[in-house]
Amino acid sequence: MSTSLEDNYRHKGLRKQLVDLLRTKGITDEAVLNAINEVPRHVFLDSSFVELAYQDKAFPIGSGQTISQPNTVAFQTQLLKVEKGMKVLEIGTGSGYQACVLAALGAKVFSIERQRNLFFKTKEILEQLPFKVKTFLGDGYEGLPTYQPFDRIIITAGAPSIPEALVKQMKVGGIMVIPMDNAEGDGQTMLRVTKMDDGSLKKEEFGDFKFVPMLKEIGND
Ligand code: SAH
Repeated sequence: MSTSLEDNYRHKGLRKQLVDLLRTKGITDEAVLNAINEVPRHVFLDSSFVELAYQDKAFPIGSGQTISQPNTVAFQTQLLKVEKGMKVLEIGTGSGYQACVLAALGAKVFSIERQRNLFFKTKEILEQLPFKVKTFLGDGYEGLPTYQPFDRIIITAGAPSIPEALVKQMKVGGIMVIPMDNAEGDGQTMLRVTKMDDGSLKKEEFGDFKFVPMLKEIGND
């Protein structure tokens, strides 16, 4: 894969247009839109896809995985209500794009990827970018016991249920955004889960999405 880290005026112009498009699609949080404007999405794709990097589309990133559609990244990020300095755990590093958007918001980002090749490929790209993201090869179902508790948790793969270990690693008042498999088995419903003072979970639903599945254990598949 050849990736170009150059971020020229054309890229910046295309990014501005993407931000305007996301506004028309209902993204209203200015901090989130600024973060999208700041992160060069084309560096996460093979250089032959530069033309397409700023369209509102998901894309293959190798190893059978995809970089989420910008509108989905913006939507999940907006639901997460990130504030500067918060500890945010991401499950499913993938390309690293979502993680950088969170870092651009001033979050301390911890991101787990289970797919070995993707983990190493993305780590290399992230090391060359100014966004502070700590990456981990591991199984997102287990979270990161060493670094808990987290203010926010974002899952970027379709989950069959709310992982218990992740609820435990979330602060009281903390928020988890999780695309949860629907009963029909043809996609996910976006859930925002808030951990209340008494430990109970408040759940809110935000529409239908399609994600690659959240799988168990580290793998080379
Ligand atoms: N956030 C990514 C989107 C990645 S797609 C981006 O911005 O590009 C979902 C990712 O979740 C895939 O890379 C997949 O390998 C990973 N994944 C699936 N199950 C996982 C698990 N149990 N733990 C960690 N990562 C997982």
